[in-house]
Amino acid sequence: MAEREQDGELNINIDQELKSREDEMVRLRRDFHQHPELSFKEDRTSRIVADRLAKSGLQVRTGVGQTGVVGILEGKKPGRTVMWRADMDALPLQEDPELLNFHSEVEGVMHACGHDAHTAIGLTVADILARHKSDLPGRVMFVFQPAEEVGGGAKAMLADGLFKEGGPGGGRPDVTLGLHIGSLYPAGKALVKAGPLMAAVDTLAMTIRGKGGHAATPHLTIDPVMVACELVVALQTLVSREVPPMSAAVLTWGAIHSGTKDNIIPVEAHLMGTLRTFEPEVRKHMLERIETMSTQLAKAFRAEATFRVTESLPPVINDDRLAGLVRESATRALGADGVLDGGQRMGSEDMAVFMEEVPGCFITIGAARPGDPPRPHHSPLFAMDEACLDSGVKVATRAILDLLPAR
Ligand SMILES: [Zn+2]
Ligand SMILES: [Zn+2]
Repeated sequence: MAEREQDGELNINIDQELKSREDEMVRLRRDFHQHPELSFKEDRTSRIVADRLAKSGLQVRTGVGQTGVVGILEGKKPGRTVMWRADMDALPLQEDPELLNFHSEVEGVMHACGHDAHTAIGLTVADILARHKSDLPGRVMFVFQPAEEVGGGAKAMLADGLFKEGGPGGGRPDVTLGLHIGSLYPAGKALVKAGPLMAAVDTLAMTIRGKGGHAATPHLTIDPVMVACELVVALQTLVSREVPPMSAAVLTWGAIHSGTKDNIIPVEAHLMGTLRTFEPEVRKHMLERIETMSTQLAKAFRAEATFRVTESLPPVINDDRLAGLVRESATRALGADGVLDGGQRMGSEDMAVFMEEVPGCFITIGAARPGDPPRPHHSPLFAMDEACLDSGVKVATRAILDLLPAR
């Protein structure tokens, strides 16, 4: 702390810098909100991002992981490399047009997770820090990633050499940082938590193969619909009976498809599900047991089950030491009242892929609209209190400044 205060050059007046950029940030966020783009199709958004970063004086690389953009801010003094991540994509949802006067202009696409805010915050932080480039130690790597919602954006950027020497990011960062606004947490507050924050996800696909026939002669068939029903119920006992009560696991089958008509017993049933866990042992146990239980239970009913994991993301685990430092930074930025504990949830985040490579801290910024009913993410009723924008910029700028000096 004392060290930082001696280093007067890093004491940028963030509040003042923010004030002159606040209107523009809100305008940008609303513009992104009106023009949402789906995963890997963030063409307009990434064009604006690249243009803004270049105007702020950053070195810009486009087309990283398809539609991703990287902005490098090279400080004039030696120091560390801090990566700041923002995501740009929207969701296939129809927004309630009554809710906002700047609602989505794209049919069936909506910024229902707040990535419009993340992008506007990232651009504002980059612009503030760029103005103080000559005083900055180290290097800030601003990463605007595509396709967070479908997973795969982070992986695509890494595959394009983001962390490689001579790559678009100019080498491996020392720290990874980012934030997500949370519409169910108090507006403008920062939540910083050490350790597990967001869950690992495994996307599951199951096929149950029976023997089709007439609905009136079930004894001549093997009914996959009945087996699917038994399985959905039986597999929940893995969560309630085999996962330690103090550990977390969620198993949800979000889709079951089978059959074409009331009087036909179909040949197959198809299930799609998601498994959310935090601990590697719990995850491994669940995946093994889902496979064993489904194949054996199906066998008991004379059917055949095949199970596979189609997609996986690691959990977001905040580095203990970095979370402590970011909490200090957040407290400096927002005051002790502005920082809360917690934010742990079963949702997943593509940020985990970057954090698996380089330790970091993912911050939650509250965005609940006071007096409103809950406005959950990924819902047509999603909305945020824009107070989260200011808090996001303050915490992000402070944390980057505090983590840049070599220590
Ligand atoms: Zn989302
Ligand atoms: Zn999100």
